Amino acid sequence: MSDTHDKLRLARTFARALSTDLNRPRCCPSCLLVFGSTLHDVKDTEPLRKSCYDLWDACIASVTAQRTDEELYTLREQLAQNATECGSGLHDGLTQPFARGDMDIVDIFVTALYTLLQGCLSDPWRRLSANPSKKGLGVRSGMWPVTADQLVGPQGEYASLEAHVYWCCRLYSTQPVYFLIYALVVCRDAIFPHLLRSPLRERMVWCIVRMLHAHVSKDAFEGWDAATLGFAPDRAPARLCTSSETNAVTQAALLLNTIMYGNDAGGDDVFQLVDGYEAALLPAINAALDQPAVLRKTIWLRTTLLQLAVALHEKLGLHDEDLHPLADDWRDADELTRAVTDGDEPDMSLMRDIRRLYSKRGCFAPGCGRAFYESESGKAFSLCAGCKFAQYCSRECQKADWRANPSPHRDVCDYLGKMDKAVQTKDIESFQRCIWDAALGSRLIMTRLRVWIREVDKRTGKRLDGDLDL
Ligand SMILES: [Zn+2]
Ligand SMILES: [Zn+2]
Ligand SMILES: [Zn+2]
Repeated sequence: MSDTHDKLRLARTFARALSTDLNRPRCCPSCLLVFGSTLHDVKDTEPLRKSCYDLWDACIASVTAQRTDEELYTLREQLAQNATECGSGLHDGLTQPFARGDMDIVDIFVTALYTLLQGCLSDPWRRLSANPSKKGLGVRSGMWPVTADQLVGPQGEYASLEAHVYWCCRLYSTQPVYFLIYALVVCRDAIFPHLLRSPLRERMVWCIVRMLHAHVSKDAFEGWDAATLGFAPDRAPARLCTSSETNAVTQAALLLNTIMYGNDAGGDDVFQLVDGYEAALLPAINAALDQPAVLRKTIWLRTTLLQLAVALHEKLGLHDEDLHPLADDWRDADELTRAVTDGDEPDMSLMRDIRRLYSKRGCFAPGCGRAFYESESGKAFSLCAGCKFAQYCSRECQKADWRANPSPHRDVCDYLGKMDKAVQTKDIESFQRCIWDAALGSRLIMTRLRVWIREVDKRTGKRLDGDLDL
């Protein structure tokens, strides 16, 4: 299957096989899995990505489909039959656990779909690390998905999120979590509010706890609504506890990091998500921190866990000696981060707010409220040429913001441009110097910036408020 032409032919075959009947796909799940895992080589598969949107759409439709028990039964029977009759030779000699028959065939199928989807997604890591950027959907040209609708799928935001969270819990695999992270990066405003709804919120926290701590005891979930979690296995399958433990911890930390600091993040998003479940989450974080090998390479992810450990410890009102030693060290050492968290220092909190604003990807103009993922192209909005900071969906919006009342962009554009570097590098000293220079000794500019930030916050913070019934 090295040849691009073969891949394209296979992609079309799979697209057809998946889309005729959601519960009677005409393909072998192992074949699909093998095919999915060949898509990670971007160069090799670019022609395929550019021409076979049907496959993406078919996978999304299948993975987010809401199936009754009866339909699941039909699906299982059909897949078993396809696998028995498969003579393709694609997966000869496959040694993965699914080939040994200790995994439900529906789970193999869904894993295959996620493998395929993951293979097609551009890498969100780059966009999440040190600097949140304002980039749009397709970092590389020709990558799926092009629009947010293609990412969400035909079921709409809530139902598709429900399906992903369901598979996150049921599969105990990093793949659906990866997908969720990607979706949060791309269209957070549209999906995060749904994640806060019951029972998705409980399921998500439960999933995070178990990914951080594969051997967590059942007692950790005492008092949780059993019906919420009834479908998921009590324990992670043994085969997954050993080999993918580190992977799971890293992925859970990445998810938490995305929720805390990702593009369009609200300041207390993570605390809203885990509200009431802190006592289950904190020990799981501590367990993850106890594994020295874990997160060694990705310091920013470890910092996420340390910071969260400190915050949850504080929230639960525990004794100092109960704080994980690493978190304790980190708390003492990282004065700067403490200051940012507490917001005691006015310069510091202003810098933090500007940083947060930088990660927003809505149009900054008054009365617009458009998010970048709502544009047809999925491309990021244009930046103001003066400051390279403010962003607009159109020339009209940019003009409107320039004269907006009560906080015209004109008032802050120059300063934002000068502060940009200091903000991005978190260099508080040069940030303070910028303010000092800009304001010629007065602090008027800080007031202006604050008013402007508050206004833009209002315009871009288009969380779906009120009732979410669809
Ligand atoms: Zn097969
Ligand atoms: Zn606009
Ligand atoms: Zn500007």
